[in-house]
Amino acid sequence: MERNDFMKKPIFGAGWKMYLSDSEACQLATIINKSTILNDSVESYVLPTFTVLDRVNNILSDCVVNVGAQNMCYEHSGAFTGEVSVRSLVEMGLKYVEIGHSERRSLFNDTHVSINRKVKLALENKLIPILCIGEDLNDKIAMRTNEVLEMDIRTALFGVDYEAAKEIIFAYEPIWAIGQQESAGAEYANNVHMFIRQLLNSLYDESQNGDEFKIVYGGSVTAGNAEQLMKQPHIDGVFVGRSSLDIESYETIFRIVSESQDLK
Ligand code: PEP
Repeated sequence: MERNDFMKKPIFGAGWKMYLSDSEACQLATIINKSTILNDSVESYVLPTFTVLDRVNNILSDCVVNVGAQNMCYEHSGAFTGEVSVRSLVEMGLKYVEIGHSERRSLFNDTHVSINRKVKLALENKLIPILCIGEDLNDKIAMRTNEVLEMDIRTALFGVDYEAAKEIIFAYEPIWAIGQQESAGAEYANNVHMFIRQLLNSLYDESQNGDEFKIVYGGSVTAGNAEQLMKQPHIDGVFVGRSSLDIESYETIFRIVSESQDLK
């Protein structure tokens, strides 16, 4: 499948997980805010932990970098001790919410059903879901990657119409490539992205060729491999964990993403 001209902005997402204390997150956000190389040719966001979301959002209020949460409850409100509601995220003025990261699926029991509920609730409340999907090593070895992705995507999108699906950022994050020394190979990642695009295209009659869907790659992206990944025609952006915690690699990756149209 050939891609049309790139109509979307390339995307650079940063997932800070639970790496930083609140003061460290504020320090990093302050440095990012002062960066002179950032520009709005990139759709960019950082995802700090809940307790510091409001402060980081204030620090970055005039910055091109947006702020989002790493999770939210699947229910709107009510007796859900320890959860954070979509209402709180919206009241804070956030734009994004990450849903279904593999760590949440494997360690905190996020299921296909709860992920679908979160996706729909986020969309109803005008938050952009960053929907994480990806196969583990066993599935990769058994050549079940496409099967796993199809299940992840079909279940997450149950009851989600075309206009809403176009809002979602699909983050292909092969579990075997997260937190490693090396990312998935760029060509491998591109082929999987192409599969995801074709699948999305087939799910919606309105879709012409799937080009309108936003699909980013995550899993050990660094300043060293970002260019190779961003060169790939089906990779619309990167989602970065550890390499987003250091301002030098953050800026380098940002620059590569911002110049990526020229690479394609
Ligand atoms: C992630 O877990 O979403 C991720 C991309 O992490 P890392 O870049 O550290 O592999």
